[in-house]
Amino acid sequence: MTTSDGSDNRRVVPATRVAVAAVVGFGIVILLEPSIGWKALAGLVALAIICLLPQRPRPPKALRDPQSRTTPTWPDDGVKAAVEALPDPAFVLGRDLTLRYRNAVSAVAFGPLTMGDPVALRFRSPEFLAAIEAAAASQSGGSALYDEKRPVERHWEAQIAPIPAAGSAAPHFFLLLFRDRTAERRVERMRTDFVANASHELRTPLASLIGFIETLQGPAKGDAAARERFLGIMREQAARMSRLIDDLLSLSRIEMKRNVPLTAHVDLGAILAKVREQMAPLAAELGVTIDYTPSDRHWTVAGDTDELMQVFANLVENACKYGESGKRVVLHLSEGVEGGRAFIDASVQDFGPGIPPQHVPRLTERFYRVDVGNSRAKRGTGLGLSIVRNLLLRHRARLLIVSEPGQGSTFTARFPAIGATVD
Ligand code: ADP
Repeated sequence: MTTSDGSDNRRVVPATRVAVAAVVGFGIVILLEPSIGWKALAGLVALAIICLLPQRPRPPKALRDPQSRTTPTWPDDGVKAAVEALPDPAFVLGRDLTLRYRNAVSAVAFGPLTMGDPVALRFRSPEFLAAIEAAAASQSGGSALYDEKRPVERHWEAQIAPIPAAGSAAPHFFLLLFRDRTAERRVERMRTDFVANASHELRTPLASLIGFIETLQGPAKGDAAARERFLGIMREQAARMSRLIDDLLSLSRIEMKRNVPLTAHVDLGAILAKVREQMAPLAAELGVTIDYTPSDRHWTVAGDTDELMQVFANLVENACKYGESGKRVVLHLSEGVEGGRAFIDASVQDFGPGIPPQHVPRLTERFYRVDVGNSRAKRGTGLGLSIVRNLLLRHRARLLIVSEPGQGSTFTARFPAIGATVD
């Protein structure tokens, strides 16, 4: 029986019948056995009340929908094969957002998941689940972002799309497809960090310049001694900005050239000898000697002379500046074999204070400095080692850093050897 509001009350009829039967039955017992008395009558009333209590809540509309009784529980083989062929993690969900199928890639990305379980058991972000629910409810699909912090940070973009059912029936299943956006997010963050760092590095000397100009125009207007002193500081700050802009431009030029193949061969021995000569004035100023003993050998690698001069000039300058207290910098060439491949090492060693181990892995990051104040005092920009790393990448060489606090540091550029000959 169906009422005017569309509700189904067929279940009420048997319960009423039970109540009526119980009342009649107990009435007969009381009539036949009056000694049972008022207690029996109370029992009779209680039974009638229980039987007439409201019915169980009605099942959800989805189950009463005649079409849903014919909904397949599992996707067919065609759908499974298509999902399996997808290169990204993919899941097939039922309308109730339980897992109905998933491809092998998804197990690698998200670990094991049991068929029939709600996806909410694995993906616990409320916003993400709400987005999937909304997409499934509208049957038109949608997208959502999903981030994970553990065991490693990963960022996903998920698309949910209805899988069309046969005929004009509403879709029984939904495809939940993930795309890994971790690398893009990292690059994006690096870019924004870089712009923020570069702006900050430029803003500091600029603010100082503006401050001194205002002082010279105002309170120190007629003060010749102050003007001389301030102009000296302003010159330093302007030079700092200029160095920073030079390094930034150099970095971007190097990055643009990173994949341009090297066509020339160079002798690392000759490069180290030239760098030693070039850096001699700075070393003398700091009271440091640069030791290099040229050999008769040619240490030939595929390379660009100007770029390699820049690599070793940066390393030697750092060794002189930061390892000043060690009084000595040693340049050294050697060769070896690693993983069946011959290499040539060109190293710059100093005997200064060294670098605490926690900083070593981060030294080639742009603007990373162990001690910002010390770096600025030594006219550093924080970009030198980043430039070195990028130049070495083009040479298929690696930068190895070994440092022992209190003993000094060795920066080694390891090049693939293309042949070492004797004169
Ligand atoms: P900067 O312009 O500050 O010198 P670099 O990228 O060349 O930037 O170096 C990054 C940081 O690494 C420096 O600020 C310094 O703290 C540290 N560093 C580099 N070379 C040495 C070295 N030979 N000894 C000790 N610390 C060093």
